[in-house]
Amino acid sequence: MALAPVQAPEPTVDGFVTQYLRNLNNGRGVALSTSTANDRYFALAATVRDYLMARWLEDVRRQRTMQSKGVAYLSAEYLLGRQLDNNLLATGLTDIAAEALVACGLDLEDVRALEVEPGLGNGGLGRLAACFIDSLATLGVPSIGYGIRYEYGIFRQTFVDGQQVEQADSWLALGSPWEFPHPEAAQTISFGGHTETYDDEGVTRTRWEPSWNVLAVPYNYMVPGYHNGRVNTLRLWSAQATKGFDLRVFNAGDYQEAVRAQTYAENISKVLYPEDSTPQGKELRLQQQYFFVAASISDFVNLILPSDFDMTHLPERVIFQLNDTHPVIGVPELMRVLVDERKLEWDAAWQITQQCFAYTCHTLLPEALEVWSADLLGRLLPRHLEIIYRINDEFLEQVRERFAGDADRVQRMSIISPDGSVRMAFLATVAGSKVNGVAELHSQLLREKVLPDFDEFFPGKFTNVTNGVTPRRFVRLANPGLSRLITDTIGAGWLTDLDRLRELEDYADDAEFRSAFRAVKAANKRVLARTLAERDGLTVADDHLLDVMVKRLHEYKRQTLKLLHIITEYDAIASGRVTADQVTPRTFVFGAKAAPGYAMAKRIIHLINAVGSVVNDDPRVEGRLKVLFPPNYNVTLAERVVPAADLSEQISLAGKEASGTGNMKFALNGALTIGTDDGANVEIRELVGDDNFFLFGMAEPEVADLQSRGYHPIDFVRADENLSRALELISSGAFSGGDTSVFEPVVTNLTHHDPFMALADYTDYIAAQKRVDALYADQDAWTRAAILNVARCGFFSSDRSMRDYIDRIWHTPPIV
Ligand SMILES: *Cc1c(COP(=O)(O)O)cnc(C)c1O
Repeated sequence: MALAPVQAPEPTVDGFVTQYLRNLNNGRGVALSTSTANDRYFALAATVRDYLMARWLEDVRRQRTMQSKGVAYLSAEYLLGRQLDNNLLATGLTDIAAEALVACGLDLEDVRALEVEPGLGNGGLGRLAACFIDSLATLGVPSIGYGIRYEYGIFRQTFVDGQQVEQADSWLALGSPWEFPHPEAAQTISFGGHTETYDDEGVTRTRWEPSWNVLAVPYNYMVPGYHNGRVNTLRLWSAQATKGFDLRVFNAGDYQEAVRAQTYAENISKVLYPEDSTPQGKELRLQQQYFFVAASISDFVNLILPSDFDMTHLPERVIFQLNDTHPVIGVPELMRVLVDERKLEWDAAWQITQQCFAYTCHTLLPEALEVWSADLLGRLLPRHLEIIYRINDEFLEQVRERFAGDADRVQRMSIISPDGSVRMAFLATVAGSKVNGVAELHSQLLREKVLPDFDEFFPGKFTNVTNGVTPRRFVRLANPGLSRLITDTIGAGWLTDLDRLRELEDYADDAEFRSAFRAVKAANKRVLARTLAERDGLTVADDHLLDVMVKRLHEYKRQTLKLLHIITEYDAIASGRVTADQVTPRTFVFGAKAAPGYAMAKRIIHLINAVGSVVNDDPRVEGRLKVLFPPNYNVTLAERVVPAADLSEQISLAGKEASGTGNMKFALNGALTIGTDDGANVEIRELVGDDNFFLFGMAEPEVADLQSRGYHPIDFVRADENLSRALELISSGAFSGGDTSVFEPVVTNLTHHDPFMALADYTDYIAAQKRVDALYADQDAWTRAAILNVARCGFFSSDRSMRDYIDRIWHTPPIV
């Protein structure tokens, strides 16, 4: 009898129906007639899985047996979005599934609505990881994604009286049909205790005697490539108490203590930290980081590689890509494994480690660079702290050698800061074979402003890989109308070769194409309108310019600047300076979560909602301005909002947004960008051309210049009457029922500090919005510009990002 893996079911409607009913009956234990909506969704997911299974098993086998190098992507976050549609698309089964469900008397639309997206990330960084694993699978690159299976992902946001209220995201309440738990393959992860040296046949070695441990249980997820028969793996770790530990305490009669210990251990993967771009110095967070990194390294080194593997060849088999500093504790962990467990010499181990890691930096905000107190590190991971000290000593020795007498430089470059904390970005930079920023401007500023000493010390170590987004999810799935139009116009193939969108340039001046393009945008607005009506009871006018700002709420992103524009437009009508019919009808859409502990961000959310309710209810506005703020912005909502947008707001203070990826999603879906010279906006503008991008505001050197001269926001208030009126309107209580205290902190912060210089860019921003109005008044010209945005943004496919990582950093062999 043949022991080959199962074969996929027949890719026909009949084959699908048979497998679906089998899954409903055998998998869920119900008949179609007695099934719940959740049963029907689970059975559908299981059926799609069945089509992927044989390929997955084959790819896992191949990755274990092949002798070539693969990528292990280490990321504390994966903001995956819904899986069902993506997996149907990857397998080419969407139409078959829809027909099969009809044959069962069901509707694919209804069934797919049951899926809860796994929100295992905060925003851009987590979504980037999700785009990257999609592209790696589509390119057929041998790779594995490692992360944490948080029991609770990013909180669910609701508004009560306009204020953010966070609710637990219990995405696993009904189970997840996409995961495969393997408790039998759990790894033991240790913490605490002390180290001691011992004599090993004449060699002094170090032994770590930890004081407690937890189990890391792997949960595997399929990551299918698009139409290529490849399926990679995402392996997320879940914490479980070690049984022995429990029993000892329990047998001693202390049930509560046993439960407490179990709870303590399992807390490690309980919840995603809801911070975005600021580090949270919590012990639990360090536990999370070590937990998933140690499990992942052990998984690769002990299970994926053969047991007799010679570790000196490790760099020929794996590159661990560090997605920000969260997994950097992996550097001393690999050293510990090589030196203490595999008994390699320190120098040999360091040679290997340096080749096995590469580091992606995601920020320019100095406060977002992660540091850990040596105290905490030493308590939780004593051996790792020793290793970090030694790495630092040897590194600083080299610095002293190169720059004799330059004590300042030695201190500046020390991994251990003067106050005794460990600078994780420095550790990653010293250890990594490469360090990359995520957009051209960001990489340049990283070298010049954040890590200049390191750039000088390690010539050639720094590089750039501009971020990208997957066109499968963010064009094909999110925007089926546009996808159809593109395929009808330039043929298939663009989805895996996004540069081919260039061929659309020829059609920008084709009246027929323009009108089809406009019809797609109008249809997308109707889809969004339906979504927001069902989801939130909101109404969207279908003849408005849709002006969208969706992203995490952060002062550097400057949602307040957007708000000042809205208030200015509103004030002009309300005060009678213009009549309502003189303004371009606009609907402003916001989407934004604020970190629960970020008071100013939460107050800004409150202010957006407050301005929205006044503007939306004022009869003088005659419905020509609308402000919509659907709560709980997530990937599922992004897939509806992005294709409907006319205008994409990318208005961060220049030099603060590392790249942005929202900006790419919008441009690829035919929205025009109003934006600063920041992050990947710079590259978008270079590609689409100045005429097709609304640039405003200071560039980074001007920001630096103003900062050094001394920035006084009040000067800008005095210089622009519209600005002072808008701020005065907030202060006067116009948006808070006459209460002058609620939003006073927002206004005071802007007029007295304005750390992100919103007021300095206000006048130019308003002028740019006037150019938006002017172009929008000429629908042919607008549509032409929108088409050129789509045609010229193929560069922002995450497939291209992956190719750049392969060429510049990973040097993994060509893809077969
Ligand atoms: C793309 C995306 C982001 C990142 O948006 P930026 O504008 O780049 O900050 C955040 N959240 C979700 C849900 C996304 O899809």
